[in-house]
Amino acid sequence: MPEGTVSRNFIELAIDKDLKDGVYDHVATRFPPEPNGYLHIGHAKSILLNYGLAKEYNGTFNLRFDDTNPTKEKTEFVDQIISDVKWLGADFEDRLYFASDYFDQMYEAAVTLIKKGKAYVCELTADEIREYRGTLTEPGKESPYRNRSVEENLDLFERMKNGEFEDGTKVLRAKIDMASPNINMRDPIIYRVAHITHHNTGDKWCIYPMYDFAHPIEDAIEGITHSICTLEFEDHRPLYDWVVREVGFEMPPRQIEFAKLYLTNVVTGKRYIKKLVEDGTVDGWDDPRLVSIAALRRRGYTPESIKMFVDLCGISKSQSSVDYAMLEYCIREDLKLKKSRMMAVLHPLKLVIDNYPEGVTEEFEVANNLENEELGTRKITFSRELYIEQEDFMAEPPKKYFRLFPGNEVRLMYAYFVKCTGYDTDDQGNITCVHAEYDPASRGGNSPDGRKVKGTIHWVDSSTAFKAECRLYENLIDEEKGVYNEDGSMNINPDSLEVIKGCYLESALKDAKAYDSFQFVRNGFYCADAKDSEEGKPVFNRIVSLKSSFKLPKD
Ligand code: ATP
Ligand code: MG
Repeated sequence: MPEGTVSRNFIELAIDKDLKDGVYDHVATRFPPEPNGYLHIGHAKSILLNYGLAKEYNGTFNLRFDDTNPTKEKTEFVDQIISDVKWLGADFEDRLYFASDYFDQMYEAAVTLIKKGKAYVCELTADEIREYRGTLTEPGKESPYRNRSVEENLDLFERMKNGEFEDGTKVLRAKIDMASPNINMRDPIIYRVAHITHHNTGDKWCIYPMYDFAHPIEDAIEGITHSICTLEFEDHRPLYDWVVREVGFEMPPRQIEFAKLYLTNVVTGKRYIKKLVEDGTVDGWDDPRLVSIAALRRRGYTPESIKMFVDLCGISKSQSSVDYAMLEYCIREDLKLKKSRMMAVLHPLKLVIDNYPEGVTEEFEVANNLENEELGTRKITFSRELYIEQEDFMAEPPKKYFRLFPGNEVRLMYAYFVKCTGYDTDDQGNITCVHAEYDPASRGGNSPDGRKVKGTIHWVDSSTAFKAECRLYENLIDEEKGVYNEDGSMNINPDSLEVIKGCYLESALKDAKAYDSFQFVRNGFYCADAKDSEEGKPVFNRIVSLKSSFKLPKD
């Protein structure tokens, strides 16, 4: 047992016991995605769990594609999954496997079962099989094909493989127990005929193994010791054990289940994300409003923040749902000290310092992050015309408004004290420009004579700032209504994306590259969008705002 570990989850306890009892002398885990979509935050939990256990016990971690169902699987998804797993930091080294590479062994395993009298070719239709299966309260009925001879089964199964039968006309079933209280044990189908081209094996096969048969074999072939999966497979475990035992694997793997990760009011199921992508509700699998790993990355989440989140969630046997605010907490924590704090004005309003000389530009050297000296300093420019946030000026302020208003003095962050002298309006009465005078003695934003100002606002220099687009995100789901309706449709929030085109950002941000992130002071953390940014023309995604009412749950 690794030393210094405080509390151990039930999976670690089970592994500790297996090692102590000598059931296994090492630990081998895997992450087995089906390449039928992008991975999401739930998968990240599974990846980091399996990878983490392998590290903890000095074992091995495999990435294996569970690509046994060619109908929905695509190479695009394979490539994306590989890149997502690597990005998360789960290093599978050269341990990359494809279940489809084991089709020959799976076929042989099926033949072994037939020879042992443990599998038979059944010709009932899909509907009949369902009918014969019985219910939770009633036992099933045996198929009339159940007692075929071994020879006949071998012959038919080979002919299934040779393509002599149409899709859906014959299946191979395990011969277990039609009266079992566990429906999964009632002669489950283990092979079906499907004339479909496979992304890896092409047209070599026209029969494909079912998940419950293929998965334990994949694990056993790779010498997996602990096959960790989610709770919905708990009822399938007797079948998993039956397969590895009857096929005759030595040192069969052991399945352990844990509860899936759910986020409240967030779409996690692959099937549902796919629907949002296909109906155009979002702009692709990596739309920053989604929680696919690619989307989180594009939004600006880091592998460290996701790891922190998954660790905070913990591993459990009971289903629960976590607040999205916890994920936001993790990214704020992660970026807080790592990122430079820049000035960006999203809704600009011109501020003219009337007593500042025209045509002059001065520079201030400022800390990139006051809480982390290692990030160094940068230069920002200041001149007579600046931009400030519209909300930082009010012509008629309410009480306790400490920012700019006629007659009030504030600090322009890093620069000077300025006192508002007035403002201009257009024909409709809209405020178009604010006027102020600065106190040259307050250079650096320091009080020259001990007088205090209550407000500090940020700004950018209009002579060097550049115009850019920023995107703000809200939950994709209308939280009042919840995610799903009874008919499977989703309650979409029509205002989940706000595009602000005329933002002014300080010039240093111009060089931001895809995935670079920053704090925009007094606002939030932003990340240069990987798809829509161009050289010298970044587009920023707001990862998360600075404020939160979230508190860490106490354990
Ligand atoms: P989804 O339900 O989102 O469609 P899936 O379970 O069909 O996902 P797979 O590719 O079959 O996706 O899953 C790969 C692995 O990820 C499995 O071991 C599965 O149990 C695990 N996994 C999937 N969703 C979650 C989740 N929400 N939390 C934790 N693990 C998950
Ligand atoms: Mg699945």
